[in-house]
Amino acid sequence: MSNQLSERINSLVPSATLEMAAKARELRASGKDIIGLSLGEPDFNTPDYIKEAAIQAINDGYNSYTPVDGYVELKDAIITKFKRDNNIAYERPQIVVSTGAKQALYNVAQACINKGDEVILPCPYWVSYSDIVKLSDGIPVEVETSIENDFKMTAEQLEAAITPKTKMLWYSSPCNPSGSIYSKEELRALADVLQKHPQIVVVSDEIYEHINYGVTPHASMAAFEDMYDRTVTVNGVAKAFAMTGWRIGYIGAPAHIARACNKLQGQVTSGANCIAQRAVITALLESPNRVQYMVDEFKNRRKLILELLNGIDGFKCNEPEGAFYVYPDVTAFFGKTLNGKTINNASDFAMYLLEEANVATVTGDAFGNGNSIRISYAASEDDIKEAISRIAQAVK
Ligand code: PMP
Ligand code: GLU
Repeated sequence: MSNQLSERINSLVPSATLEMAAKARELRASGKDIIGLSLGEPDFNTPDYIKEAAIQAINDGYNSYTPVDGYVELKDAIITKFKRDNNIAYERPQIVVSTGAKQALYNVAQACINKGDEVILPCPYWVSYSDIVKLSDGIPVEVETSIENDFKMTAEQLEAAITPKTKMLWYSSPCNPSGSIYSKEELRALADVLQKHPQIVVVSDEIYEHINYGVTPHASMAAFEDMYDRTVTVNGVAKAFAMTGWRIGYIGAPAHIARACNKLQGQVTSGANCIAQRAVITALLESPNRVQYMVDEFKNRRKLILELLNGIDGFKCNEPEGAFYVYPDVTAFFGKTLNGKTINNASDFAMYLLEEANVATVTGDAFGNGNSIRISYAASEDDIKEAISRIAQAVK
């Protein structure tokens, strides 16, 4: 039967984050008491002022197709947001609203990558980057980083990874899965390297921008004048506003790239959901301070989970500065046999935790770095305490 399917789809691997979340749901439905720390999804409700804007939009009769690249009022709100939060000046033709940041990333890949083009991905990278690149016939070029350098790529590493075929660099800051944040100076050092290679387009995924614990301020590549013309800034409302299911993401980009994304989206999905778009106008125009209470809560949970994990022999954690994941190095367990099961790699370890501790996490292999597992702390303190205590018990 698989010959009925394309080679493209046969070689595509499922999203490991979504797959693990589905597996946890399945096990839960079969009666198992699973704690899900696999999915990057805030456990908060969407704030009332945003919900009310959506209800208002329904009552106001918003039900038609929207412009493919989004309502003008939403594009203007995005322009205001980019200026206010990132000091980037975009104009309407540079903005495209999509069905989640995921579609925004897919659009950009399809718009920019030719067969055989290389795309540099500092590891660990967000799970879908490498498959989105491959779906566009690009070649992911993984750059290894280390926990000692807080999982950040240095300028020297970037320089060494560039070849005449390099077309793009993709990264997220704050980073999913490591929580690392590139400072303005670190981004400047990368930009200095890129100045010597004008063919390279940068995708700066800033979806965790507001989930920042205050050590390193957020910085945007496109805010550097000399990078503005070749940087695509990706963002969305899923994380900071607890709106994962509303499915709105967006880009600010050089106009020709935005135009290409608009053309593609017009043939594939059309404009994003009309009610969600109206609600996002409110989400973006209100002060980001209104969602700070969630960030404060994530910060408490980060402290808690780091304390608990650091108390278990074999877990080595960096201190994430943003997002809501810890990415402990678990190589100390490789080659060991626990409760009769041999752990050879991070995938074995994540599977072991699911089966023996009833805790769902995600293997680091999914993020291009097989030394770690990713644990989301977008969960209640009680769940975090119970999960880490079960993990401690299972690895004793
Ligand atoms: N980029 C990163 C780094 C993410 O973690 C996610 C997770 N959802 C996305 C993009 C996709 O976001 P969305 O839900 O808006 O599609
Ligand atoms: N981005 C989230 C995560 O990394 C949601 C799942 C996904 O879209 O892959 O868990």
